[in-house]
Amino acid sequence: MPSSADPSANTLELVALTKRYSDTVAAVDNINLRIPANHYCCLLGPSGCGKSSTLRMIAGHETVTSGDVLLGGRNITDATAAERGTAMMFQSYALFPHLTTLDNVAFSLKMRGVSKAERHQRASALLERVAMTEYAQRKPSELSGGQQQRVALARALIMEPRVLLLDEPLSALDPFLRIQMRSELRRWQKELGLTFIHVTHSQEEAMALADTIVVMSRGRIEQSGSPGEVFNKPVSEFVARFMGGHNVLDTPGGRIAVRSDRMQVVAHDDEAGLPATLVDMEYQGSYGLLSLDVPQASKTPLSVMLPEASYVGRRFTLGQPYRVAWSEQDVHRLPLVSRIANIET
Ligand code: ADP
Ligand code: MG
Repeated sequence: MPSSADPSANTLELVALTKRYSDTVAAVDNINLRIPANHYCCLLGPSGCGKSSTLRMIAGHETVTSGDVLLGGRNITDATAAERGTAMMFQSYALFPHLTTLDNVAFSLKMRGVSKAERHQRASALLERVAMTEYAQRKPSELSGGQQQRVALARALIMEPRVLLLDEPLSALDPFLRIQMRSELRRWQKELGLTFIHVTHSQEEAMALADTIVVMSRGRIEQSGSPGEVFNKPVSEFVARFMGGHNVLDTPGGRIAVRSDRMQVVAHDDEAGLPATLVDMEYQGSYGLLSLDVPQASKTPLSVMLPEASYVGRRFTLGQPYRVAWSEQDVHRLPLVSRIANIET
C-alpha cells in the first residue's frame, strides 16, 4: 500500500455531486460530504435512495451530471476508474470461476501488462496479508464464502487504492457469516490504514462498522455523524425512524423523538406523561417490549423497552390503561417539517 506521509492524501470530498439518469428527479441530489482520511464511512439508507449511484460516481463507473469528486485535494471527477486511486470490492460471487485464487487476485495487473513474475509476487503478498496463502491454487468454488470474500478484497487491493469502495458487500452471506465478515472488514480497514466507503441498507451493520454514518434519503444526505450521534441525536423524523429504537411523538411543544429504552410505563392515575393503552407485549429475554396506543401523540403505537426484571416483575395486562412518560433530558426535538431542505429546491 502506498503509505503517504500526508494523511490528507486519503481524504475524499464530494462537492455538490449530482446524478440525473433522465431529466426527472435526481438520483443523487447536490450532496456535499467530506470523508476524513482512513475513516470507515457507511452510506446508509433505504433502497433507491442513491447510495450505489454515489459510490459508482466515486469509483468512476458512472458519469457525474454535475459537481466534483476530490481525493487528497485532487479533482478526480473526470479521471478514469483505473487512475483515480479508488477501487471497488465486488461481491465474492463476481470472482472468475475458472481462475485460481492467485490469478483472480493478479487479474487486473495482467490487464495492465505487468509481467507474470511480478504479478504473481504481488498477488502472493496480498494473499498472505488476508491469510489465504494456502488456498492460492484453489478455484472459487473450492472456497468457503468467507474465503471468497477475502479473495475479493485482495483482488481490489492489488491496484493499491487509497479509498476502497464496497457496495453491500455482506448482503449475499448468511447471517452468521455476515457478522463474522463484518468484524474482519473492520479489522482490515484498521490494519490497512485506508479509507473505506461501504454502502448498506442495514442500520445495524452501519452501527457496527462505521466511524461516520451518512444517512441518505431520496438522493440527499439527511444526516452524517458518528454512530452515537446519528442514533442519539437524529436531526429528522426520517433518521429517527430509520435508525430505529426511537418513538416519534407529536406534543404541544412540537415533534420529538425519545428512545424506546428511555420511556417508562406508569400507572393510569399517575400524573406524569400521557394516557396510553397496552396493545401488545413480548418477552425478549434480556428485555420486554411493550406496544402502547397513545392517541394524543402518535397515530402508530409507541414501543417501550423495559429491562427483564421490571418487565417480569410488573405483570402488565393487555388492554389496560397506563401512561407513558419520559424525562426532558431524553427528548430530541425534530423539525416540524423534516425535509425543509428538499422542499426548497
Ligand atoms: P440505492 O443503491 O440506494 O438502492 P441507486 O443509486 O441504485 O440507489 O438508485 C437511485 C435511483 O436511481 C433509483 O430511483 C434508481 O431506480 C435510479 N437508477 C439507478 N441506476 C440507474 C440507471 N442506470 N438508470 C436509470 N436509473 C437508475
Ligand atoms: Mg444499491
